Amino acid sequence: MGQTLQEGGNAEFGSSVIQDVWACDTLEKAKAFIASPRHASDDESPYKIKMQNYVGGAFTTPSSSSTTTTSQYIDAINPKTGRVFGQVPISSADEVEHTLRAATEAFGSWSATPAAARSKHLQRVAGLIQENRELFAVWESIDQGKTLERARVEVDRAVSNFNYFSTFILHQQTAARVVDGSNILTYEHRSPAGVFALISPWNMPLYLLTWKMAPCLAFGCTAVAKPSEVTSMTAFLLCEVFRRAGLPPGAMNVVFGDGATTGSALVRSPLVRGGVSFTGGTATGIQIRRDTADQIYKHLSLELGGKNPTLVFGDVELDKAVQTAAMAAFENQGEICLCGSRIYVQDSIYNDFVAASTAYVQATYKCGERVGAVVSHQHYTKIRSYLLLAQSEGATFSSSTSTSTSNPETIIPPADPTNGYWIPPVILTDVPPTSRLLQDEIFGPVATISRFATEDEAVALANENPNGLAAVLLTRDGGRMRRVGERLEAGLVWVNCWLVRELGTPFGGMKSSGTGREGGEYSRDVFTHVRTLHMPLQ
Ligand code: NAD
Repeated sequence: MGQTLQEGGNAEFGSSVIQDVWACDTLEKAKAFIASPRHASDDESPYKIKMQNYVGGAFTTPSSSSTTTTSQYIDAINPKTGRVFGQVPISSADEVEHTLRAATEAFGSWSATPAAARSKHLQRVAGLIQENRELFAVWESIDQGKTLERARVEVDRAVSNFNYFSTFILHQQTAARVVDGSNILTYEHRSPAGVFALISPWNMPLYLLTWKMAPCLAFGCTAVAKPSEVTSMTAFLLCEVFRRAGLPPGAMNVVFGDGATTGSALVRSPLVRGGVSFTGGTATGIQIRRDTADQIYKHLSLELGGKNPTLVFGDVELDKAVQTAAMAAFENQGEICLCGSRIYVQDSIYNDFVAASTAYVQATYKCGERVGAVVSHQHYTKIRSYLLLAQSEGATFSSSTSTSTSNPETIIPPADPTNGYWIPPVILTDVPPTSRLLQDEIFGPVATISRFATEDEAVALANENPNGLAAVLLTRDGGRMRRVGERLEAGLVWVNCWLVRELGTPFGGMKSSGTGREGGEYSRDVFTHVRTLHMPLQ
């Protein structure tokens, strides 16, 4: 299947490709590396960065010795320029199976490793990501299109993921009781559930993948992880961290590839005995549920799409409310599943709120500064199609470009971008209540502002959507915070704040936004089996 690489003959690095990339820990070095010509002796690939799977503790190049498919590659593209900077393998079903065997082999010893020892491994991983913070941030920014500042925040959160679960497992409590009227002791016992498939999307690549990897390893499971084919770079770097941290071979493996070939083979495989932890779109989540329906033993944790409301009541402090709503709408170009892209404002402050938001977004959310490029040409085209829909439905446009007018013709970006996938944030008003703009997840820098009169109407509008991931509630009325907050159909509700996370609280959505919760003991439920033992005390 794959061949183990130590090419370059360097004991310090897992592979020569990693060695080259690892040296590029500033934006300037990375850009210079990408732009510099290849040597005549280099292999047939026109790109210097040809990512490799990480299987059983070694970097492997998917090879054409696979019996069913010849491995293919897809381009890794810098969204800020639209130019290719590397290649991502599409691992075949055979390669996935081969990798799962490595995870299966490692499961016996890793699942029996004491929690204290597992904890130390996780801490070493956290420490190595921390030490190489800028390296990860630089490549995340190049690969995903996000700003370097935003990428740094997400690297820090990846470090927190490993640190949090490294200590969580040292303080476990289990229930034990003596059955009333007898001397039978009954207690809860947990054991690692098995080999997992961990699958993540492209919007916060390192952060979301480590949110799965850290608890998976902490609770004694092994895994094959597959990042999004659109943003694979930081997962590739992470493999080197696992190698340097001395993580036992096979405990965490990474295969690269798309959903149709690689992801599908991974979730369906009977070697995935533990389950699937998936974050991505709702349609993919439904497909995964179908594909695993017969394998009832698999734990499924599905974190899916959102179309989140922000409710702004008339009693708010206007400036603060504008800032929170804008951040919730446009951070990371609106490419966060938790973004509040449907803003509903009470009649009494509606006009003031729209005017202040327009001015604030124009001043604050400038492309190339606080706003990065959207992730891909395909996604650019999707977002653009919603702007065309808004135009056809007669919505009013305002945009963050300094030269903006309210004319959609000057705001809607060109069909064929020539220098990266840039879409300045757009605020839409006068959107028809039945519009798909209020129903579909656009997942880009586009927010609507609509009005409401009463508290009941606000709750009804917020809940009038198939998704139920998150909601933002802006009010100074303490009673309303609970009254409205507890009626919102959303797994996460933020009152007068946004994106604040405590890693022990449950994370996940209602309705079409998914099933299952992750975080602290909720992650423990995903990655462990629980059995209840009963035994006489004498
Ligand atoms: P996607 O569903 O297209 O892809 C997600 C991952 O699934 C990718 O790695 C992809 O290769 C893989 N995949 C695709 N088809 C598959 C299949 N049949 N079997 C197995 N794997 C398959 O989503 P995306 O476009 O990468 O990400 C955007 C979506 O993710 C949005 O809907 C967003 O809301 C959602 N998201 C949700 C959360 C959350 O926590 N709820 C967080 C981030 C993103």
